[in-house]
Amino acid sequence: MEKKILEIYVHIPFCERKCHYCDFLSFPANDDTINLYIKNLLSEIKEKSKFLTDYIVASIYIGGGTPSSIDFIHIGNIISTIYKFFNVSEACEITIEANPHSSIYDKLKSYYEFGINRISFGVQSANDNELQILNRLHNFNDFLLCFDNCIHIGFKNINVDIMKGIPLQTIDSYKNTLKKILKLNPKHLSIYDLIVEENTLFFNLKKENKLILPSEEEMEKIDNLTLELISYYNYKQYEISNYCKNGFICLHNLGYWSDIEYIGFGLNAASYLKNVRYKNISDLNTYLSMDFKILNSTNKNSYFDEINYLTKYELINEYFFLGMRKVNGISETEFFNKFNDTFLNFYSEKIKKYLDRKLIIHQNNRYLFSKRGMQISNQILSDLLL
Ligand code: SF4
Repeated sequence: MEKKILEIYVHIPFCERKCHYCDFLSFPANDDTINLYIKNLLSEIKEKSKFLTDYIVASIYIGGGTPSSIDFIHIGNIISTIYKFFNVSEACEITIEANPHSSIYDKLKSYYEFGINRISFGVQSANDNELQILNRLHNFNDFLLCFDNCIHIGFKNINVDIMKGIPLQTIDSYKNTLKKILKLNPKHLSIYDLIVEENTLFFNLKKENKLILPSEEEMEKIDNLTLELISYYNYKQYEISNYCKNGFICLHNLGYWSDIEYIGFGLNAASYLKNVRYKNISDLNTYLSMDFKILNSTNKNSYFDEINYLTKYELINEYFFLGMRKVNGISETEFFNKFNDTFLNFYSEKIKKYLDRKLIIHQNNRYLFSKRGMQISNQILSDLLL
């Protein structure tokens, strides 16, 4: 029987200190806690692999938190455990998220030797004052050194995360960031808007009117500048926030937007298998005390905080919402093959006004955002949910 494709996400929830915008599940921890966490994580990988023998792993993504903040030996053990218990494809894309502050040469070299073939740096800005505002641990020179080291070691596929909409960011300061990074020629860029989330310092400052964010007009100029510079430097946009050089699309992310199944290991990690979404336990002490050796198909529910059996409408909503994030949008044929129903049966009324305003385009049997539509896609997508 042909094996199905699976993506693996591994969550390392540890960070030395909290960035002012961050609402992810991440925190500092001592060595004992980290050692115990990794021990349980390896056990989770091993025990859950028994339920996933009919899959082949196409991508592995070690994210966080800050995976590069822990001892590199742990990363090696995670990768070798996955290889030992899963069927991993030869061309598997293996990514690790790294913070320039904690990515010293020897660590990066060991990642390369473990078979990691993609590094993702959370750089955010080339302006040290903006990095301080965000409470990042690194400065821009730390990143430049890491980038040089990666090239020297042999990494071909490097992603850089950049943030727009940072407090006090100006069009010129953003231009400075983007240009400096583009000149380094990384193969992949993720350019995100800062979102002020609840339970963050920025949220509290915003409530007190003490957070000075770029205006809407400035953000529109920043977005236009992004598209202009990105195409000047020969990058292609393939998703709302993601750009790459030819041949360097991130397979792992593309999988999320293309309805590929995935399993998440570690605290609070999400999985999507056979039309069911799972969320792992989010309480650290509960996770650390779990015994994965006694996990079986009867008691498996107690290993998750949430299990959501998706209805047909929810599956269609997700397929639409995630698929439209891609620059080439959604194929009517694929939609029909998956849901045994036509796309227009669900969306003809809703998308008409966006087709009329040319924010959504219908071409070659696909529905996709126009350039302007892509810029305001979040607004449109929330209006289009079933
Ligand atoms: S490094 Fe990432 S996960 Fe850690 S606090 Fe900062 S934004 Fe959050």
